[in-house]
Amino acid sequence: MGSASFVHVFRPPVVFKAITICEACPDCGKRTRMMGFFQEWFGWHSTCLRCGREWDDGCWLPLPFKRGARAGNIRDAKRRWRLTIATGKISDPPRKRRKKRVA
Ligand SMILES: [Zn+2]
Repeated sequence: MGSASFVHVFRPPVVFKAITICEACPDCGKRTRMMGFFQEWFGWHSTCLRCGREWDDGCWLPLPFKRGARAGNIRDAKRRWRLTIATGKISDPPRKRRKKRVA
């Protein structure tokens, strides 16, 4: 009997999503819209809808070395926008329960 191995990928839900107008994209330098998704612990994941460049919590993400990578990023961001429902809630750590007093 073979041993099965499982990979568990933790991915918190999207808390906020937003489309913002950026006066100058750091990559293409043009006025554009940025599509962003906020996840706890990971921060904002943003995509320029003009050039397809992506940022993760303010850091540039490398472009894959393949044809149409930027167009693919724009397509993926728009698809994610349609499919994602932002929860709008940031989870709090569990609070300590008080003991009930018995009268
Ligand atoms: Zn851009």
